[in-house]
Amino acid sequence: MNKTTNQLNQQKEEKEKIYDVIIIGGGPAGLTAGIYLSRARMKVLLLEKMSPGGQAILTDTIENYPGFPQGISGPELMQNMEKQAIEFGVKFQFEQVFEIKHKKQSKIKIVKTGEREYKAFSIIIASGADAKKLNIPGEDEFRGRGVSYCGTCDAPFFKDKKIALIGGGDTAIEEALYLSKFAREITVIHRRDRLRATKILQERIFSNQIINFSWNSIPLKIKGQNKVESILLKDVKTNDEKEVECDGVFIFVGYTPNTGFLKNIIQLTDTGYIHSDENMMSSVEGIYACGDVRQKILRQVITACGEGATAAFAAQKYVEDLKGTSYH
Ligand code: NAP
Repeated sequence: MNKTTNQLNQQKEEKEKIYDVIIIGGGPAGLTAGIYLSRARMKVLLLEKMSPGGQAILTDTIENYPGFPQGISGPELMQNMEKQAIEFGVKFQFEQVFEIKHKKQSKIKIVKTGEREYKAFSIIIASGADAKKLNIPGEDEFRGRGVSYCGTCDAPFFKDKKIALIGGGDTAIEEALYLSKFAREITVIHRRDRLRATKILQERIFSNQIINFSWNSIPLKIKGQNKVESILLKDVKTNDEKEVECDGVFIFVGYTPNTGFLKNIIQLTDTGYIHSDENMMSSVEGIYACGDVRQKILRQVITACGEGATAAFAAQKYVEDLKGTSYH
């Protein structure tokens, strides 16, 4: 398709412009970094591939973000953060980043999206993580026809239905509790004989009358004709197989960091998370990481926000030093 004069002018303008900081990702980490940088009057661009909010927007209620004694809905908290970022002047572009380029001898770093190239003195990577798949037969085939990775999004479709839910972490248990407000019966399928989830969530799930457990079990196959009808499980202790009838399969087995676009630019862990120091700096000077994409012990909205603030302050200081305008 031919580009309009407007689009071409915009591209030319962007090619010449150098941002102080480009933030990649609009979850709590990226939005917080944006708020801090725009309040510091830095020239900041936030690139987001879909819509702001990150994983938290898919969460029904967030109970451990301080200041909300009754909890707050994930979408509400994230919409407030986005609004705050916009009010302080963060510029958003909805484009997916495919590559970062940086040369040791150059002060400028380049961020390539599907549409154009952007230049900046510093980059903050807050690209988060996406739900992991099980990679079993039937998972892709029935996605959207019974297979789901988001209870908050799909729960109403499972009113009075039977659900199989995979995973034993905080996400799995929170989602099971939420789905229990809709479903008739839920079987939590976990590969061990105890849950990984926080104790308060365990207390709640063990006292929920419609939730039962299939311990030491892994899913082998999701079956059905046009939609999900059952799931085939294997007992990892006995190797026995059993089929559990269900209308839906919800999968919550962790996350994979969104670092594919970094292509050997910075140091990653074996599982693809970004190594960074206490100031959030990655193995490359001027490139910072915050939120779920970082290698760390605790992945929460509160830690993402704290890291976003630190990364922003560190990036600000780095850019001011580079430009010779440091006041610190
Ligand atoms: P997680 O803590 O990594 O738990 C993943 C769960 O899936 C584990 O129970 C794991 O089993 C199981 N699993 C992993 N791969 C599997 C496979 N191939 N087949 C079957 N089961 C598999 O992930 P998460 O629950 O999404 O949580 C991610 C992070 O976000 C954590 O740090 C968590 O604390 C945080 N989070 C916090 C809250 C909150 O505080 N309210 C809410 C949601 C998430 P094993 O236990 O055997 O490893």
